[in-house]
Amino acid sequence: PGKQPEREVDSLCPYCGVGCQLTFQIEDNRILAVKGRDGPANHNRLCVKGRYGFDYVHSPERLTKPLIRREDAPKARALDVDPANPLTHFREASWEEALEVAATGLARIRDTHGPDALAGFGSAKGSNEEAYLFQKLVRTGFGTNNIDHCTRLCHASSVAALMEGIGSGAVTAPFYECANSDVIIIIGATPTVNHPVAATFIKNAAKRGAKLVVMDPRGQGLTRHAHLHLQFRGGTDVALLNGMIHTIIEEGLTDPAYIERFTEGFEELKARTTAFTPERMEGVCGIPAATIREVARLYAQAKAAMIFWGMGVSQHTHGTDNARCLIALALLTGQVGRPGTGLHPLRGQNNVQGASDAGLIPMFLPDYRPVGDAEIRDSFEAAWGRDIAPHAGLTVVEIMNAAHRGDISGMYIMGENPAMSDPDQSHVREALAKLDHLVVQEIFLTETAAFADVILPATAFPEKDGSFTNTNRQVQIGRKAIDAPGDARPDWWIIQEIANRLGLRWHYSHPREAYEEMRGLMPSIRGISWERLERAGSVTYPCDSADDPGQEVIFGDGFPTESGKARFVAADILPPDEMPDKDYPFVLTTGRVLEHWHTGAMTRRATVLDAIEPEPFCHLSPADLVAAGIEPGETIRVRTRRGAIALKARADTDMPSGTIFIPFCYAEAAANFLTNPALDPFGKIPELKFCAARVERT
Ligand code: SF4
Repeated sequence: PGKQPEREVDSLCPYCGVGCQLTFQIEDNRILAVKGRDGPANHNRLCVKGRYGFDYVHSPERLTKPLIRREDAPKARALDVDPANPLTHFREASWEEALEVAATGLARIRDTHGPDALAGFGSAKGSNEEAYLFQKLVRTGFGTNNIDHCTRLCHASSVAALMEGIGSGAVTAPFYECANSDVIIIIGATPTVNHPVAATFIKNAAKRGAKLVVMDPRGQGLTRHAHLHLQFRGGTDVALLNGMIHTIIEEGLTDPAYIERFTEGFEELKARTTAFTPERMEGVCGIPAATIREVARLYAQAKAAMIFWGMGVSQHTHGTDNARCLIALALLTGQVGRPGTGLHPLRGQNNVQGASDAGLIPMFLPDYRPVGDAEIRDSFEAAWGRDIAPHAGLTVVEIMNAAHRGDISGMYIMGENPAMSDPDQSHVREALAKLDHLVVQEIFLTETAAFADVILPATAFPEKDGSFTNTNRQVQIGRKAIDAPGDARPDWWIIQEIANRLGLRWHYSHPREAYEEMRGLMPSIRGISWERLERAGSVTYPCDSADDPGQEVIFGDGFPTESGKARFVAADILPPDEMPDKDYPFVLTTGRVLEHWHTGAMTRRATVLDAIEPEPFCHLSPADLVAAGIEPGETIRVRTRRGAIALKARADTDMPSGTIFIPFCYAEAAANFLTNPALDPFGKIPELKFCAARVERT
């Protein structure tokens, strides 16, 4: 404190999708402190993660040398290590040897078992350029579309519904557009925890007079600013939303001119929702019919209204249906494309939007061009000089299932941690152990890296240049602030080295070259050159030309679908995959806490953050604790049909009785040993927000 930094470098926060701009203060190649900058998404604000979550980069646990698994180190016991010597299963290697072993193993599987025996997981923590190069490598070097990343565990169902309904998977307006809203709905999202700076804009809008409606089975920080809190039963979103859709149609609250001009499928939606009266839906979702009608009127009659949603909507086997209903609400009432209106799925990881845009998904090439479309494939094949497989690849959970079956035997994982993030961990870790060849590119020996045959040490966020796209569709520049430790190398360089050993001929010398190539293939960012990004720091897409300022509120004049119209898609009411019963009477839901990010690889190694929330806990309602005879702070065991973990109990007045919550960032009690891998059939997202659980005293 008080010490003047030697130098300052303007960059971005590496955590959530808000994309706060910040300045690293540096001395002797160490980050001393971080301060907020006046970026479009943060106006100098930072949350506790952005402010205090940076010293993970200086952790003594950073990987600084390439590592190769020792021949006598069985993968089945990958996580069975001496904490004092966690690298015991590996030996150090030169870059030349490690790259050769990594690439040779991948090539052998490709050439023996075929391209689809390989798969790659990229990362939403990486830059746009890294995502672009990684998917290009998997598609042209491996020869498969088995490429995915954590968007599959995040908003894949939202994107499926948005692509189908309005022809675009991104938000229709930035979150700060809520300053112009008079009604704001937040459903299945906890912005004060997961998007804290965005939450400040929402709070300010509520203080100014916007009516905030929070729809969530759990209580949360924003409820104290809310006009209404609808604490509906978990997993019944479609019933609640169909009740609102029914009300809007039945009471004549639609915008007929908007529906006529900009939509199709209204009559089918009307017919399919006729039976979903609020009076019937009350019995399903637990919200009084009068309240459902009140909220429907409030939203439909608002001059301008926005809907925000998060994983509470998307991480269900009916996640796509949930999002379809939200889209229908906006289309029925014309609450899209004007100031203060919009649909905004709050993006999780800092670059999950950009990584998806860049094609790090199995069914789409960059800019969401379907890989199954021959004409589109031709254009990418011409640009990349290689054939692309014509069929969509497998998604995250499908890839793990295929690895478990033995259909996939080689993987390259860059920056993802499926041995913590994916549902049903016993199954996932067995799958990783079965892989014949696993290459992991990481900054720490994560739970996933522990299963690797080769570990390639990569650079952390402040150690590299790159562009990142936040939840608002703002492409922003992150700048190298410090040098990487030891022999750690930039991800783009490592990907290129692997690519060239797989027979490709790449010659990138800086991420800017990858970005400019990508820009040439992505109409959405056509007008955003690297040079412009360096100058402006942030430009919103779609951006057609160098003098286009970028378009923030979009779709005021039609939609990017074949007909130019948006499409209503009705949703039926389906139960979650696994309902509570007498053996497993609780509903388990998982998520994040304010201080920790995703699987904790970075924030658990950030001193201040881990000091605030150092250990795992299970949230229960005070009434459930009393009924079970459990004291707050007591160690309990939580069990589901897939596994059990032991952790402390925490009394939480935000929890409804019968529901428990466990954060998934703690390796010592990994919540995903418990979660259900059942998939939404459209978005292929697992049902991380609902499964049946039992609480036991230890
Ligand atoms: Fe970082 Fe998100 Fe916090 Fe901003 S709100 S400082 S981007 S974690």
